[in-house]
Amino acid sequence: MDCLFCKIIAGEIPSKKVYEDEYCYAFEDIAPVAPVHILFVPKKHIKGACEINPENSQIVGKIYEAIAKVAAEKGLENGWRVVSNNGPDAGQTVFHLHFHLIGGRPLGVMVSEEK
Ligand code: 5GP
Ligand code: ZN
Repeated sequence: MDCLFCKIIAGEIPSKKVYEDEYCYAFEDIAPVAPVHILFVPKKHIKGACEINPENSQIVGKIYEAIAKVAAEKGLENGWRVVSNNGPDAGQTVFHLHFHLIGGRPLGVMVSEEK
């Protein structure tokens, strides 16, 4: 399968690893929008949040556990945001489920007015 994040998880494309466990891999976003911008991806290929179902939904809880741990390690006690874009209207560009952990500065409004 021609998936960028599957290749990153497999080590075929280099990445700056932040965290890894049996369920998920986390690495620095190549184009950070804040001082901390880390992508958390399931090791299993899931196309996006639209494919979460009773068989695989436990991975979301495991990923959130990892996010909370890394956010604490990165010193983001003042706050942080998790974003998961699903589909073209939301701006999803890589079709392997991922959660952006963003923090390290005041983040402003959740959804921009851009159309
Ligand atoms: P999306 O737009 O799908 O929500 O998020 C995809 C993210 O992947 C973007 O923030 C983009 O900067 C990041 N990205 C795209 N290609 C690469 C890459 O090769 N390496 C890393 N580390 N991040 C990437
Ligand atoms: Zn994939």
